[in-house]
Parts: sequence; structure tokens; C-alpha cells
Amino acid sequence: MKITRNTFNEVMFPCYNPMNMVIKKAHGSYIYDNEGNKYLDLTSGIAVNCLGHTPSDVQKVIKKTVKNLIHVSNIFCNEYTLTLAKKLVEKTGYQKVFFVNSGAEANETALKLARRVAFDNYGADKNEIISFVNSFHGRTFFSVTVGGQESYSDGFGPKPAAITHIPFNDVDAFKKAISDKTCGVILEPIQGEGGILKADDEFLKTVRELCTKFNAALIFDEVQTGVARSGTLYAYEQTPVKPDILTSAKGLAAGLPIGAVMTTDEFAKHFVPGTHGSTFGGNALACSVGSYVIDVVSKSEFLENVKKMSSYITDNVMKLNEKYNVFKTVRGEGLLLGLVLNDKYSGKSGVLQKKCFEQKLLTLVAHGDVLRLAPALNIKKKTVDEAMKLLDKALAAFVSENA
Ligand SMILES: *Cc1c(COP(=O)(O)O)cnc(C)c1O
Repeated sequence: MKITRNTFNEVMFPCYNPMNMVIKKAHGSYIYDNEGNKYLDLTSGIAVNCLGHTPSDVQKVIKKTVKNLIHVSNIFCNEYTLTLAKKLVEKTGYQKVFFVNSGAEANETALKLARRVAFDNYGADKNEIISFVNSFHGRTFFSVTVGGQESYSDGFGPKPAAITHIPFNDVDAFKKAISDKTCGVILEPIQGEGGILKADDEFLKTVRELCTKFNAALIFDEVQTGVARSGTLYAYEQTPVKPDILTSAKGLAAGLPIGAVMTTDEFAKHFVPGTHGSTFGGNALACSVGSYVIDVVSKSEFLENVKKMSSYITDNVMKLNEKYNVFKTVRGEGLLLGLVLNDKYSGKSGVLQKKCFEQKLLTLVAHGDVLRLAPALNIKKKTVDEAMKLLDKALAAFVSENA
């Protein structure tokens, strides 16, 4: 069967617009298409392939696991799922874990849990959720409505109610918005899709304080920032606060679908049998890989490399910027970096991404003004050097065409 990029147009829903190639295989930080082209990948499946593409150690874990078990459902428990849960509990200090298959499902679970805890403890009127403009929490109807981009939830009929969006990092707006009716507050410690924007420490302290005061659950969506992406196992470790509920997904199983919700006994006890569930959630194979990933990425040398490569990329981008004057700044933490375009190039991140693609350098965008890099967390210095040479050429073409 002949497969080309046009096959996508023929048989797939048109809700993505993938780059003009068809991937055949990928190893480490390199992707190969079915016409023999090689690309350097700084996207890692949108912050998913944290150990690079098809790493041989992960292949070994998968091969070993599938000889014993692939899936059994949650009417049974199994060693692989319980092992990952135990590891997450040990590493984070939370007491209970619920497994799902994606980031959206993890947030859906967290939001339902916040509503249920408030319902059980304080009654039906305590149901309001506060979230933030430009946040992204996934595409199920509840999670996408909670997310801070209305265009993503418009046009699907009546939306889930009692959701308020306020500006990110706005202490005064938050003080005005929270009340006895608030059951939960959800935020990304670093807004990913929204442009790699960090939550301020002072803002987070106020949010934490008022959530406690008003008995509202504080939820951190660490679907993108988690699993060492930010340079610590979870990004909240770098903030002065700890959320009541933590969601994780993307990198957790190095490329297999998985999500996790972590919380305290006090919260978890409200999900009694029958209140919530997931057929594939806690899938044995995904959890087996997840256990391996947590062992690898929580090692201090691994986290050191994330921070080292983060500074190395930032320094090199700023050096290139002396030549091209395209970026205002580089922001983010660890290997979740946003290269913010100067006002002159406002709205042109997609154009720059295309110029990178022409150099066979794969990058992401976060809104119109930010080129987003999320490479494999074990990326090597020499791979970064190579990427910077390609970025150099892409910037030259970008500047000359947009003068
Ligand atoms: C990617 C992402 C999601 C959605 O995850 P899916 O696995 O696509 O459902 C939710 N929140 C954040 C912060 C994300 O980056």
C-alpha cells in the first residue's frame, strides 16, 4: 500500500495539519520519513518521548513485560500498576494514585474529584471552578471548557457550567474570584500551550493560601511540566507550594499512553467504587514502562543533564540571536523552552517553525509568538550543537524573508 502525506487528507479527520512528510521510523533525537529524509527532532512527540525515540532500554522493558501481561482491566489488580503507583507515592509524598490514559482524562478526573469532595463535604452549591486565561487542560468537553481558550470549547452546545477564567498571575483578580462556592482551582505551573509562561511565586502563595482558607482543591496540571521536563521530577518542587491534586501524563511512559492523578487520602477517599473509572487506565504495559521511566528520570545525574542542556540551549540561542535579533527572550524551565519572538515578528512563530522544517529541524510553537522546544530529556550536547547549526540557517532564511 502506497502511503503519502496526501493519504492523510483522504482518510483522516482534518483537525490536524501535519508537516509535509510521513514518518517511517525514529531513533533517539532523529526521525526518518518514508522518502529517506532525516530530521532532528526537538519536539519529542510534544514532550512525550522523554528518553528519545524507540530507546533500546525501553524496548527491553516492553519485550519483557508483554511476555507476561499486556492488559487485565481494573476489576483485577496487577504487579505493574501497583509498582508504578508505589513509586509515584514514594517520590511525591502523595498517598493515592489514579491511572488514566491521557492528560485530558487526568484533568477530567481531577476536576470531577474536586467537585465530588466539595459535594460530599459542603453540599451541591460548592461547585465553582477557577482556571486561567490561555491555560490548556485537554480536549474532553469538561477539560477543554475549563481550559482558557474559548475558541476550543465554542460550537459544541451547552458547556459544563460554573467555570470562571481569570488572568494568569493576577493576584487581585484571583482574590476577587475565589469564594465559599469555589470547589477547585486548576493551573499549569508553567503554561505550556499558552506560551511557556511561569506562575509567579507570590501568585502561587496567594492561590495556595486562599484555596486552603476557602476549602477549595488546588490542582496542578503537570501533564507537560511533569516527569522531569522542568528539571525536577515535578515542577511544583521548584515553587513555594504543593497542590492538593497533581496530574501527570505525556512523558510518564516514554511514548505509551498513560496519565496519573495523585492526591491525599483525604481527597481520594471520596472516589468510592462506582464513582469513577477507566477501562485502560493503569494498563499493565504502560505502567511497566512508567516504572522504568520514573526510576531513570528521578536520578540526580539525569535531572542535572536536563538543567545543563537547558542552559546550553538557552546560551546558544541567545548567541545566535546576537546575529539575527529575532527573539526577545528565552523562557521556561528545564527542557521546556519558549523562544519569544520580538514584536517585529509578532504572530510569526508558525513561519519560523516552517523555516526550521525546511532545514529538517522539528520544533513546536506555543501561540503566535513563541517557538517552543521540548527535546528528549537525555539529549546530548553534540545533538544540540547540530540543532543550533540548523536553527542558524533557519533564522537566516526567516530574517531575509521577513525583513
Ligand atoms: C498536552 C496537555 C494536556 C492534554 O493531554 P492529552 O494527553 O492530549 O489529553 C493537558 N494539559 C497540559 C498542560 C498539556 O500540555
